Amino acid sequence: MTLDFLSRKTGVIVGDDVKNLFKYAHEKGFAIPAINVTSSSTAVAALEAARDANSPIILQTSNGGAAYFAGKGVSNKDQKASIAGAVAAGNYIRSIAPTYGIPVILHSDHCAKKLLQWFDGMLAADEAYYKEHGEPLFSSHMLDLSAENDDYNISTCAKYFKRMAKMDQWLEMEIGITGGEEDGVDNGHVHKSALYTSSETVFSVYEALAPISANFSIAAAFGNVHGVYKPGNVVLQPKLLGEHEKYAKAKLGTKEDKPLFLVFHGGSGSTEQEFKTAIDLGVVKVNLDTDTQYAYLTGIRDYVLKYKDYIMSQVGNPEGADLPNKKYYDPRNWVREGEKTMSARINKALITFNAVGQLN
Ligand SMILES: [Zn+2]
Repeated sequence: MTLDFLSRKTGVIVGDDVKNLFKYAHEKGFAIPAINVTSSSTAVAALEAARDANSPIILQTSNGGAAYFAGKGVSNKDQKASIAGAVAAGNYIRSIAPTYGIPVILHSDHCAKKLLQWFDGMLAADEAYYKEHGEPLFSSHMLDLSAENDDYNISTCAKYFKRMAKMDQWLEMEIGITGGEEDGVDNGHVHKSALYTSSETVFSVYEALAPISANFSIAAAFGNVHGVYKPGNVVLQPKLLGEHEKYAKAKLGTKEDKPLFLVFHGGSGSTEQEFKTAIDLGVVKVNLDTDTQYAYLTGIRDYVLKYKDYIMSQVGNPEGADLPNKKYYDPRNWVREGEKTMSARINKALITFNAVGQLN
């Protein structure tokens, strides 16, 4: 691997390594998929896909996904399960990631205003980790205050970013609204104009955050929708992203064509051409959740249907009434099938995002 711009080439990366990896993605014209993980099984499925494609990867936990990592039976009063689960996922991924030999960005997904207690809890864990190891537990976090007014959104991001910058941590923020429904947040009914962010608004985010640190990215809305729906209602306009970059370039008077790091949310169900355009124009991270959830199911579904008559009891199957079925119901066999189909879906994304072989 000739990734001289990375001080750490395998395992979870932090600080300027994150920025340098995104810069590299800008230069080479690829985006890194961000995979929502809810368990060790989904985490290794994502790591395996990236390792086999020789690509970097972003693993992220949503608020609900983090709580699930802690255990669905744990109360989430005061965000305790989501905080504990995010920390558990973070420590697990940190331990296992170097085994896969690729750089991994450890991230947390959407945090809305009502979930700020979760964000505070994760930052406290990052600060504790920083004290011990000289780096935060998480590479980056996302704040999504896009449902609030822009002033509140931007000023609150700036406030948190000051705290995060002390640890050289990356911030992803959202401005304008991603439509649809994800993780219990339903934006299915917002006005269509809110689904497209203007270049002026995007640049005002840059102006507020850049003096604090260079380590941030912007998820600007360009008609994207979480989940998979019938097409036609909202039109995706990835070309808007290029206008944001052009506007920022002109305002800054820089030679750099892509001064902004942009993020693509609600990628499931988008066309290959839409991804290619968005990546050409400055997107370095694409979130993928809905499609990988479905992919994870398909392997397990097909296994269960194929071996239906071998899993109805512990003993006895079509080949003999006394035969044991242990090898069919061992979770290492049927859960593994879900990992394989999830990995295959991620591999498809890595190809679409031009990320395959970028670590060569
Ligand atoms: Zn999203």
